[in-house]
Parts: sequence; structure tokens; C-alpha cells
Amino acid sequence: MKNKRWLLLVCFFLNSFNVETVFANDPNESKRLVLVAGGPSHNAGEHEHRAGILLMERCLTGVSGLEVSTHFDGWPSDDRAFEHADAIHLFMDGGHRHPVIQEDRLQLMQQLIDNGTSFGAMHYAVEVPKDDGGEQFMDWIGGYYETHFSVNPFWEPHFDNLPNHPVMRGVEPFSVRDEWYFSIRFRNDKVGVTPLLVDTPSDDTRRGPYVSPRGPYDHIVEQKGKSEIVSWVVERKDGGRGFGFTGGHFHENWGDENFRKYVLNALVWLTGLDVPDTGVQCEVTQADLLENLDD
Ligand SMILES: [Zn+2]
Repeated sequence: MKNKRWLLLVCFFLNSFNVETVFANDPNESKRLVLVAGGPSHNAGEHEHRAGILLMERCLTGVSGLEVSTHFDGWPSDDRAFEHADAIHLFMDGGHRHPVIQEDRLQLMQQLIDNGTSFGAMHYAVEVPKDDGGEQFMDWIGGYYETHFSVNPFWEPHFDNLPNHPVMRGVEPFSVRDEWYFSIRFRNDKVGVTPLLVDTPSDDTRRGPYVSPRGPYDHIVEQKGKSEIVSWVVERKDGGRGFGFTGGHFHENWGDENFRKYVLNALVWLTGLDVPDTGVQCEVTQADLLENLDD
């Protein structure tokens, strides 16, 4: 308690000199992860951006060498929040209203990317318009959800064949029902893209209905039997990393240990830190899942 009071005093002192206090330590000391949550959306328990980001933050608290800062309602109030970020991860609604394509934010992100910042996007945040962010997302994270090419049905993949990758440390095969998007628009030949969560949707899943538009689409139905990538990572030539994760519709899915560990591991990996041998450990109870929900 006493320490907390001191910290508040120091922050107040720094603020009075207009010194950036988003991050407190020397930039060389630890890796910095900036988590950004979109505003309220959907029904209770769905697209719980704020609660999800707060859960990720809490779970990452114990990871040595990692500093996490969180921002809500779509975007930080001050772009300096991204200064010295090693990785930025977005969990928010996308499409034409995606916060990252508003104002001059694509350019801002591009500057950060050019400096080697890693970039992650989760669920609806992987969707940007083809002509407004599509190319950037292909560069930054390897792909994006493209309207009328990608689809968004609810289904329950079985992730039985997990690849050997640091992000998979401690993750056991799992199966979770979610709005797992697939037919993601990847870079040509998926150059640099490492698929991590892959399964083959049933023919029924391919026929839909999708959440929106309802479909079905011929090109999705015709590809029956084809496996689909629903989460992946990228190592960019500039040294930065990318992470795409299409699940995350239902907040209760954070209650699945492997689902949770997978995302947390990916966020640690995104910053360039080593993922712990058994993955990021974090207990989440049913009561925890009711915390911080949007009204
Ligand atoms: Zn959704």
C-alpha cells in the first residue's frame, strides 16, 4: 500500500512536468506490449473487448521482463501511448469502422512497423476493407478478413495437430466453439506465414449460415475438405512479428485453459520475449469471467 502511494506521488510529479508516464521504466529494460480494446459492442458476453484486454493484462502481469499498458474505447487518447512499443495488439470491432483506419492511423502504425514494432489483431480486428488497410494487414500480420472472400460462421474446430512453435508451449490439443473466421486473404503463397491453429470445417459449416452476410458462397462450399487457418504468426523481414487470431467472439472462451494460454503465449512471443517452457500460467475462474463486462 505504501509503495502504491509512492508510485502515485511520483506519477503526479512527472505529470506536472508533462513527462510521458504511460511507461515508467527505461526503454531498454523490458519489452513493452500495448493492448488496445474497442468500445462496447454486441450482446452481453460477446465482443467483450475491455474485459478481454483486462484479463490478458492480468494474466501477463507475472511475465518477467514484460510491461503491459492498456487502452480502451477504441484508441489511446494520445498516440504517444505507442512510443517505444515492442508490440501492439488490437481487440476491437473492425470493417469500415475499424479504429486503425480512422484519421491518419494507418500511417502512424506504418511508421511503428517500419521501426520493427510487432502487431497483433484479434477477432473482428482482423477485418479491414480491402482498399483501406488490406494491403497493410497483409504486410503487418500476413493476412486479413476480406468481405465476401472470408467467412464468419460459428463452429467448433478441433485443434489436434499442434505444430512445434514457441507459441504452442504448454498448449494441449483443444476444441472451442467460436466465430472462427476462415478463408482469410493471405499474402501470395502465404510467404512468411506460419499456420498455428488449423482444422477442416465440415461441409455444413461451409454451407453456413455465416454470421454476416449469411452466405453461402460458392467458393467456400466448393473447397470442402480443405483445411483452414484460423490463427497464425508472421516473422517480417524488418524483424517485427505479426499475429492473427480469428476467435474471441465469446468472452467465456477465456475460461478454456488452452485457448487462453495460446493467446497469452502469442502476445509474449510477439514482443520478442521467450515464451516460458510450459507457457504463460494464469488461473481464470468463472467469477473472473464476469468481471469488467460491458453493460
Ligand atoms: Zn464476433
